[in-house]
This record gives sequence, C-alpha cells and structure tokens, in this order.
Amino acid sequence: MEHLTTEGRAPAADAKRRQEFLDLLCAWNDAFAASSGRRRKAFLHTYGCQMNEHDSETLLGMLLAAGFEEATDQNEADLILFNTCCVREHAQTRVYGNVGALAKRKLEQPGLLLGVCGCMMQQKEVSAALYKRFPFVDLVFGTHALPDFPALLYRAAVLGERVFDGRGEESVPEGLPICRKKGASAFVTIMYGCNNFCSYCIVPYVRGRERSRAPEDILKEVKGLVKEGYTEVTLLGQNVNSYGKDRAGNGCTFPELLRLLNSVEGLERLRFMTSHPKDLSDGLISAMAECERVCKHIHLPVQSGSDEILRRMNRHYTASDYAQLVKKLRASVPGIEISTDIIVGFPGETEEDFEATLRLVEDVGFCAAYTFMYSPRIGTPAASWPNQIPDDVKHERLARLNALQAKKCVENNEKYIGTVQEVLVEGCDEREGQNAFGKTSAFKMIYFPGDESLIGKMLKVKVTKARSNSLLGEACTESVK
Ligand code: SF4
Repeated sequence: MEHLTTEGRAPAADAKRRQEFLDLLCAWNDAFAASSGRRRKAFLHTYGCQMNEHDSETLLGMLLAAGFEEATDQNEADLILFNTCCVREHAQTRVYGNVGALAKRKLEQPGLLLGVCGCMMQQKEVSAALYKRFPFVDLVFGTHALPDFPALLYRAAVLGERVFDGRGEESVPEGLPICRKKGASAFVTIMYGCNNFCSYCIVPYVRGRERSRAPEDILKEVKGLVKEGYTEVTLLGQNVNSYGKDRAGNGCTFPELLRLLNSVEGLERLRFMTSHPKDLSDGLISAMAECERVCKHIHLPVQSGSDEILRRMNRHYTASDYAQLVKKLRASVPGIEISTDIIVGFPGETEEDFEATLRLVEDVGFCAAYTFMYSPRIGTPAASWPNQIPDDVKHERLARLNALQAKKCVENNEKYIGTVQEVLVEGCDEREGQNAFGKTSAFKMIYFPGDESLIGKMLKVKVTKARSNSLLGEACTESVK
C-alpha cells in the first residue's frame, strides 16, 4: 500500500475537526515512537465488496495520517480493525469467530486496541449485540460514522473510553485521506447508498439513501489519481446508473459523468460497478459505445431468470427486458462482455423458476457469474417469508448452475485463442510459471510470462490457451504504452 492522498472538498468545520484529531493522534504516536523506538502498527481485516475495500483504503489513509504504520501481520499489530460486511451470512459469522478469537490476546496484551466497523455495525441490533458480547472490543462504529473515525479513535486510544457510534445521519464525505493499493488501478466512489430495496438486500438499510458526489469533486479526484500515475479508475456505487438523480438541477447524469471523465488526459481505462438493469438507459449504452476510455465490460446483476421471482425480488424488470438490454449492449458496443450476479433458492423458487434461470444463463453467455445461495438477512422482507427453500435444494441448484456457468465460461474464453489483447498489467503470480497477469478492456484476466517491471504497463498479449476463469498468453514484443 502507498500513495497517501487527500482529494476533494470538505465542509471546512468537519475537515478542521478531523485534522485536529489526526494531529492529536500523531502526537500520541510520536511520543510512543520516541520512548519505545518503534511506531505503533495497525492491521485491517476487510470483508465484502469493492465498496468495503475502498472504505478500508480510506480507514488506512486516516490511520497513516494519524501516525500509525500498516502491519502486514495481525500478530504484530497494536490496533486491529475489522471492516465488516452484512450482505452475506457467511462473512458475518466469520467476523464473530475472528473477533472472539482475540479475547485471549487482549488479556495478554491489554494495550492492544480492537475495533469493529462497516455495514454490519450500521445495523443497530447487530452492533449493540456485538458490543455487549465482546466487552474487550474498544471501538464499534457504523459506515455513517466513518468520516469521524479520527475523533472516535482518539477517544478509544488516548482517552481510554469504550466507544460506540451507530449514528443514523448520512453524509457525502469529501477530503478524507485515502491509502490506495500500489498499482495502476484505483477505486473512486461516486455515490453512496441505494434506493431500490430489493426484497432480499440489507444494503439500503445500512448504507442509507442514494447520495451522489458532486461531479467536480469526482473529476478533481480522478485528475489527481492520473497525476499520481494511476491509469485505470473504477467508479463505485451500489447502483451507479442512478448517479445524479438525487442532485436535482445539477444536470449531471451517469452517462454525462462518463463523458466528462472520458476527457481526462492520461486516463487509459474507465470502469464502473454496479449497474441495475432497470436503470440502464440508452444514453448510458451510447456513452459506453462512444467513450474510448470506457471499458468493454459491464457487471449487470440479473439475479434470476424467472419473472415471478424477479417480481418478488422487487427488481422491476423481466427476463425478456434483461435479454433486450443484452441485445442492445452487444449491438452498440462490439466485443462487450457481460458479467452478472445470480441468487438461487430465493423463497418460493420452484424447479421451473430455477430452470428459467438456467435457460437465461445458457442464452446470454455471461463471461462470469457470481452465484450465491439465498441467505436470509434479518430486517429484509424476504427473510420472514414462509416459503424458504431447504438448504439441500439450494446446494443442488447452485451446483447445477455453477456447472453450466463453468461450461459457458470455457466456451466464452475459447473465442479469444489466437487473438492479440491489450492488457493492463496488475501484478505477478508465481503459480504455473505464468508470472505476470492483467486484464483486457473486456475484463478478461490473462496470465503470461513476465516480471514485476511490467506492472502498470499496457501490453499486447497473444492468447494461447483458455481456462474457465482466465486466459494464458505470451506478451508480444512491443508494448502499447
Ligand atoms: S440494487 Fe438491490 S441488491 Fe443492489 S444494493 Fe440496492 S437493494 Fe441491494
């Protein structure tokens, strides 16, 4: 991790208050370093989606600005922070296990600071229960309190208070320090929250209503990233297609934002996620077709191929609407790849409903599908419906869906054999002698012989082999950039 930046605009009072606490924490950490000969270290556990990963980049940015160093191993940390996710039950269960496992260490190392934050902690009952169950946890706060992390940490670390902040007020924070991953690719949040209330999803309850950042703040952040050497930006939001709708009169829709960012000199690639099919407009398809920096990939969660299940999921489209969108995208943006999310075993899902999903997967030909068994989230409508599907049926359906998608992935990947692709190199992986890896514009991962000196470069790579989730290739002699 590196590249500590502070971008965007902050309401002056908030920024001033945040900086005061960062300074106080810095002084506290400097005094410790002077007396002990080492700096305090912080370790972050991150669960869940890219939004959470990006929140962790912000938390780490604030920790570095507060005078901590990043620990690469939890065992060497003076502060351990769990950035939680409440979207899947599995991630939630892991949090309880991992926090509970630190009880003994906290007894042996009383100065160790433990914090739990993120969207699981934005659920009042869940955060209150965790706070009570683990009395050795020093700091608990939800997503809405993230901009105030320095003040909360000061109270826990320096004043020795046990701190709980489950505030409900939503904001559009600007000006927070961010420590992004080293590399060519950066995440930029363009909006917070979601208004859709899909009947299985907890996100609107914990992330709040849609709040879009001002386009000028996003533009400034993207230009700053390009100056720092990033060449690919992924715009993040729970439903980016709704960008700007909450800023009535502002005049900037999501397609217009894409066009604005497409003009940034030095930016090579622009990605975005996630898109809701009901909000995918013709204007967005045109912007994707006309903006040369916008990548030829869209993540478009379909969730089910059954109209009845889609209706009960509150998704506001049918399987045939989705197929039409796919048709339009492929006609307008040649070479575009489409990935998706699918839930199996939603309450009341019959064998016929599930077979409709299999048919849709067969017909559309997704480049990738993130498939999940429905897991009830307390507080959402579907969790209390009586017609829950037994686990063995969910497992069996998931296995059938995954087998079909694996076959479709190989078929999809085979079409690339013999082609030359432009790849933005992201890193190195020692496995199978295929050292370097990166993605094509269409989000295909390619592995090919290469070393760390290639990271961040745009290369031409000839595809030699297709696997289910990636391609193998050989770099051509000349690089693109
Ligand atoms: S669009 Fe639906 S699934 Fe996505 S975050 Fe919003 S409520 Fe959840």
